[in-house]
Amino acid sequence: MTKRRLYDSRKRILVTGGAGFLGSHLIDRLLDRGDDVLCVDNLFTGTKRNIEHLHNHPRFEFIRHDVTFPLYVEVDEIWNLACPAAPIHYQHDPVQTTKTSVHGAINMLGLAKRLGCRIFQASTSEVYGDPTVHPQREDYWGNVNPVGPRSCYDEGKRCAETLFFDYHRQLGLDIKVARIFNTYGPRMHPNDGRVVSNFIVQALRGEDITIYGDGSQTRSFCYVDDLIEGFLRLMDSAEGLTGPVNLGNPGEFTIRELAERVITLTRSRSKLTFHPLPQDDPMQRCPDIELARRELQWEPVVALEEGLERTVGYFSQGLQA
Ligand code: NAD
Ligand code: UDP
Repeated sequence: MTKRRLYDSRKRILVTGGAGFLGSHLIDRLLDRGDDVLCVDNLFTGTKRNIEHLHNHPRFEFIRHDVTFPLYVEVDEIWNLACPAAPIHYQHDPVQTTKTSVHGAINMLGLAKRLGCRIFQASTSEVYGDPTVHPQREDYWGNVNPVGPRSCYDEGKRCAETLFFDYHRQLGLDIKVARIFNTYGPRMHPNDGRVVSNFIVQALRGEDITIYGDGSQTRSFCYVDDLIEGFLRLMDSAEGLTGPVNLGNPGEFTIRELAERVITLTRSRSKLTFHPLPQDDPMQRCPDIELARRELQWEPVVALEEGLERTVGYFSQGLQA
């Protein structure tokens, strides 16, 4: 790994999808610890605003590039996060979504192979689909519709995992695969349709809160700082730990509970309204994080109330601007 750093002891790190919600937080942490960061993003769902505070940073570079095309750069470590993550975004151009997951993974794995470097994959709890096992452990194979409106994302990510493990088995590549459960926090896109950003923005504007279905479906919400800590611990773990490793907060809430908490926190007069449940919307989701606890000594520390408060603070500023 170090063979490409002749004169410099700093690690050069590639982050694809670095202008997105999670990518930009990851880059902040990598720069803080002294690494050199190359951010690659086509700005499909990410924004320059997420990384504008880094423009004059001496160890930060940005390239606008689509990962479905090959990339030739020299780095010591690759984090592959490029992919739209919110259902309205990944369903906007489903063919491109699958291409981003699959061709993007092939291109980044090819780069890692040439460089002989470690590579991280941002996989997802969506690989479990609408789970029949609860909470979800890494050895559960999932319940995914291969031909539905969420399949471009779910199957794309599943295929990317397959590619990662085949590059590992066949070529000895040093891989780290994280299965990320619903994460929220500052820099989420206000219009991405995800439940936390939707509810907070609606509550702050005094608009109706849009609950899909009867709100009894569950999700487990992880605050972004906790997740990024898990990312770093996984990436820096011993080579034998390939994953997949679940990273998420095991606190499970119904969507209706989330709406009520957001209303209380924002002291909003918004009313709950009920709308049809989107097709294939998972009814329950909660990570079993025993593997991460045991191998990474990691678990989330930010409670939902506190994380929501910080996120409300972020969105309040944006809505006033
Ligand atoms: P995001 O949409 O904010 O970020 C994704 C980034 O990838 C954006 O900046 C976007 O412009 C970029 N991108 C998309 N297609 C690209 C392409 N073809 N080439 C280059 N860049 C491209 O989403 P996020 O929440 O930050 O998610 C980051 C990663 O984590 C994704 O891979 C996502 O699947 C995964 N993930 C996120 C969550 C979550 O709750 N946030 C949960 C599970 C998995
Ligand atoms: N959801 C909702 N109202 C909204 C947005 C989402 O009730 O305005 C529900 C959605 O149907 C799902 C849950 O909240 O059951 C989480 O949705 P999100 O899009 O955030 O993530 P995902 O479904 O990918 O977990």
